[in-house]
Amino acid sequence: MRAFLGDLLDLLLPPACGRCRAPVPRAAALCARCDAALSRLPASACRRCGEAPARLHSRWLRCAPCEGRESALLACVASVAFEGEIERWIHRFKYPSPGPAGLDPAPGAVLAALIREAARRAPGAEPALVVPVPLHPRRLRERGFNPAAQLARALAREHGIRCAPAALERIRDTPSQTGLSRRARRRNVAGAFRARSARRLPARIWLVDDVVTTGSTLEEAARALRRAGAREVVGICVARTPRRSAAPFSSPSTRRPRGSRGAAARDRPAS
Ligand SMILES: [Zn+2]
Ligand SMILES: [Zn+2]
Repeated sequence: MRAFLGDLLDLLLPPACGRCRAPVPRAAALCARCDAALSRLPASACRRCGEAPARLHSRWLRCAPCEGRESALLACVASVAFEGEIERWIHRFKYPSPGPAGLDPAPGAVLAALIREAARRAPGAEPALVVPVPLHPRRLRERGFNPAAQLARALAREHGIRCAPAALERIRDTPSQTGLSRRARRRNVAGAFRARSARRLPARIWLVDDVVTTGSTLEEAARALRRAGAREVVGICVARTPRRSAAPFSSPSTRRPRGSRGAAARDRPAS
């Protein structure tokens, strides 16, 4: 019955690419060509820092420097580099224009496909809970919705696991991280989050945000989850800011192959 309704819907409203309107298979947000315009992170990227080393260590698939680094996050994965097309998609998703154009479902569909693709890169077992990085209540009122919570819901739905948008709260309204150095970012978000309930959280959690830059925000949010009982926290993001532009102490930049595979085009495991 459901398949029949799907076929009927395809007939009445043929699925189209969210960018160029070319016909696409149902459940695909973009056609293969538009999907290829996004710059995929290589499958061999370190699952914590995103750099592409020759060898990944342990079951957490981290590079050698990350293996030795203390962090509340066991891993932090993303599917694309935050450059080019994806910046526009994320901007349209976070700041929908007023009027009919703001109702376009394409940005949400593209980002949902990419967050699901990122989760397929996550090392370790599937978690019991998905938690978004929360906005401060004042920002939430201004914006009307938390983009990270929408992504977390899309991910939880696909995996059939629980999403807890209110598990964490942002207790400090921190200024934007944009333009701050790595150290300043860390100071800026220190103590910004806490678990809302005194109840113990499950051991494994996926922590969701749209973009990871230095990882300071996710790190701080993961710390709050760990304090509330979580043991294995993995960050899941749509995009990662390339190190060469994000980190003041960046290693020599690595060239990334422009991948063309991926969930936004075909919505099934890419690697
Ligand atoms: Zn297209
Ligand atoms: Zn690494």
